[in-house]
Amino acid sequence: MKVSFNSFARQWEEIKEPTLQALDRVGESGWYILGREVAAFEKQLASQWGLPFAVGCANGLDAIEIGLRALGLRNGDKVLTTSLSAFATTLAIVRTGGVPVFIDVDDSGLVDLDEAAQILESDPSIKYFVPVHLYGHCLNLDALEKLKSRFGLKIVEDCAQSILARSGNRPCGSVGEVATTSFYPTKNLGCIGDGGAALCRDEKIASHLRSLRDYGQTAKYEHTILGLNSRLDELQAAFLSNLLLLLEGATAKRRRTAARYRAEIKNNRISIPPVPADSDSVWHLFPTLVEGRDELQRHLKDSGIETAVHYPVSIHSQKALDGVPYQVVGTLKNTERFCTQELSLPIHPYLTEEEVTFVIETCNHWRP
Ligand SMILES: *Cc1c(COP(=O)(O)O)cnc(C)c1O
Repeated sequence: MKVSFNSFARQWEEIKEPTLQALDRVGESGWYILGREVAAFEKQLASQWGLPFAVGCANGLDAIEIGLRALGLRNGDKVLTTSLSAFATTLAIVRTGGVPVFIDVDDSGLVDLDEAAQILESDPSIKYFVPVHLYGHCLNLDALEKLKSRFGLKIVEDCAQSILARSGNRPCGSVGEVATTSFYPTKNLGCIGDGGAALCRDEKIASHLRSLRDYGQTAKYEHTILGLNSRLDELQAAFLSNLLLLLEGATAKRRRTAARYRAEIKNNRISIPPVPADSDSVWHLFPTLVEGRDELQRHLKDSGIETAVHYPVSIHSQKALDGVPYQVVGTLKNTERFCTQELSLPIHPYLTEEEVTFVIETCNHWRP
């Protein structure tokens, strides 16, 4: 049996017909950038997410940059964030001129909000925060909201891995001024190419985001601010509108697989990190922590099971940050533990029950 980490082939079987119709519709319309499809998708996304405004962008990286710019981040402003994420989270901060301040993650692998409170207490010059809802978990939003009001923070929530996740009954991304997501193909809602979005509750911020993604225009040929070219195109929007209809079902499948892994994986060398309190996770990834991670990865590969590591290298240790101003708080002990021990098991929505059983049995039979 072969168990792949993602399954674009099985997805294509399901969405081929509506995708070809969408292509035809966009082609016939003769309108390819910022038209009806993008507007319709933005409305649909905002309503399904539970936030009033969504603004399509070219990718998740740009969405974070646009979000930070809309919140007024200026050169040299410090931005609290995590070193355990896709590099893009930090890259967006640095590109906007921010100075990342890395703090540790907690036992779930998400940015440690208690440690955040301590550092914010000792350094009142930090006014921005980019938390990441990693692995499809949602950070505790009550705790995040308290932190925000106690320290007067401006927050862009990186929801690239957590679309539709909730904390209690609140949607992920509803505490920060801006929530961003990515439609990179491997994400829970992935397009056939690159895409992303920034969402918000405030109409003024929404028009600022819209202007920033389109050169800073407020009307045609009227440039009031310096923006980016970061538009979602009509074809991707049409594709995403179809896929969004399947997202609840696909998320339910991810949740069922996660429940099985959590109940049935029984090997004392493999532990499953806890889920943040109140998180109704969407399981973009299924992280495990393993002493001898590389051996387990080889064992699974030899049995035909693909896995991945999120992430093997912490962001502040990446060469690209040499010479870039940033700050590290403490030893980032948990971050380093995740980098050494984390192994993600396959959890895409097209896994069959037999494949899930096979992954579980292969993990349970591993004796290093
Ligand atoms: C994928 C990802 C991004 C970047 O998204 P792109 O669309 O690839 O630019 C940012 N943050 C996190 C946590 C991600 O997983």
